[in-house]
Amino acid sequence: MYNEIIGFIRETFHTPEGFIPLHEPRFTGNERKYVLDTIDSTFVSSVGAYVTRFEEMVTEITGAKHAIAVVNGTCALHMAILLAGVEPGDEVITQPLTFAATANAIRHAYATPHFVDVDEDTMGMSPERLQRHLSAIAVLRDGRCYNKSTGKRIAACIPMHTFGLPLRIDEIAAICEKYNIPLVEDAAESLGSFYKGKHTGTFGVLGTLSFNGNKTVTCGGGGAILTNDGDLARKAKHLTTTAKLPHPWAFVHDEVGYNYRMPNLNAALACAQLEQLSGFVENKRELALIYKDFFQSKGIPFVSEIEGASANYWLMTILLRDQTQRDDFLSFSNERKVMTRPAWQLVNTLPMYKDCPAGDLSSARRLADRIVNIPSSVRIKK
Ligand SMILES: *Cc1c(COP(=O)(O)O)cnc(C)c1O
Repeated sequence: MYNEIIGFIRETFHTPEGFIPLHEPRFTGNERKYVLDTIDSTFVSSVGAYVTRFEEMVTEITGAKHAIAVVNGTCALHMAILLAGVEPGDEVITQPLTFAATANAIRHAYATPHFVDVDEDTMGMSPERLQRHLSAIAVLRDGRCYNKSTGKRIAACIPMHTFGLPLRIDEIAAICEKYNIPLVEDAAESLGSFYKGKHTGTFGVLGTLSFNGNKTVTCGGGGAILTNDGDLARKAKHLTTTAKLPHPWAFVHDEVGYNYRMPNLNAALACAQLEQLSGFVENKRELALIYKDFFQSKGIPFVSEIEGASANYWLMTILLRDQTQRDDFLSFSNERKVMTRPAWQLVNTLPMYKDCPAGDLSSARRLADRIVNIPSSVRIKK
């Protein structure tokens, strides 16, 4: 059976031998041209036309009113958390099945992650679990939400669209509204993913994207903050660009700023990549169908988008029976140079977060034992 799977993946990627990575970038458009353009113009750093063009392209793709380019997705999250009003000592709800950066960004704001379980079909935050947990622990005082058992304010909620599959974000948004908890979406993995016709990352007060090397499109390192709020957008731009007051020659800063701006060199690469996003997503969605058919015929669940969702299928996922079968297959496939990967170790079990507040996380635990990501790159003819 494992042999058959490896054979099928090799055939699908037109790679009869040699290494098949999990996700590799494709520079098949204007990458070289735009990058050389920044070198020729000498504008490789924090000033340049590609940053503005990148921000315009991101607003066009996502439908967000404003997009602010930053150095990476973690910094985008840190800034979004600060702008959502999170203060030192607050709690921020997030999911245990995510990349460590989601929780790290909460800690960078001196707040504490508070873990709520995921749904087993979307692998993203569960509205049912969130509602149940808040009913048990939350209390509203002066219009603000507090955790009864710790006494801390619950200052934001950060769900994450796992592997690019949209979660039930409209239901999460409705619950957050009821409890007056600002919603910030970690859409780092879901550029090009929509739920009920709306781009992921645009359902809350702020959303964030990543353009890291392994994401659907990359600019080496990069991120973006999304918002429909003009004031927040202005603040985001100001704070991420050292909080310098605009002036022809004077150097005056009016706040403790951050140097989180995206260099023009990276923005050039990002623009070239974004031009190809829809083609990349189409290509990946086609691969998802091929995989789904194959794994269905083998009786192995392939995780697909839920109704109303259109996923970018960033990293494709199968669910094996249990941890033993998962580990057998991970060894077998990686030994044969077909790269596969388990889910991240659940964030709530990492040493830095093991004492953080949490609800019932049984679905995340069940999933974490079974998830295997399989090669998911955009396929090219060989
Ligand atoms: C990639 C990723 C990030 C962070 O992005 P970087 O650009 O690598 O800083 C944040 N959250 C999730 C869920 C991610 O997958």
